[in-house]
Amino acid sequence: MTTASDLADELEGDDAERCIACALVLNPDDLVLCEIDGGYIHADCCGPERESYFKGAGEPLGPDDPIPTPFRYGGDDKQDPARQALTGEA
Ligand SMILES: [Zn+2]
Repeated sequence: MTTASDLADELEGDDAERCIACALVLNPDDLVLCEIDGGYIHADCCGPERESYFKGAGEPLGPDDPIPTPFRYGGDDKQDPARQALTGEA
């Protein structure tokens, strides 16, 4: 039998992905963005400043660029184009 406590331990194991800003383990329902150095950051942890965001392969947002849309960490859209750009060919 798996208890909620066991599940929490499992989720908070060393393999768990953590927000690079607040270091909390990411939950599937958390809205996150890809961080430029790899990993994820809560959308809420980015703050409202445009300087907190980047586009494509790490370029700063231009004056006319929209702030990237956060996605659910556990959602099907986890592999977003920005991350693929980061991990793809240089
Ligand atoms: Zn966070």
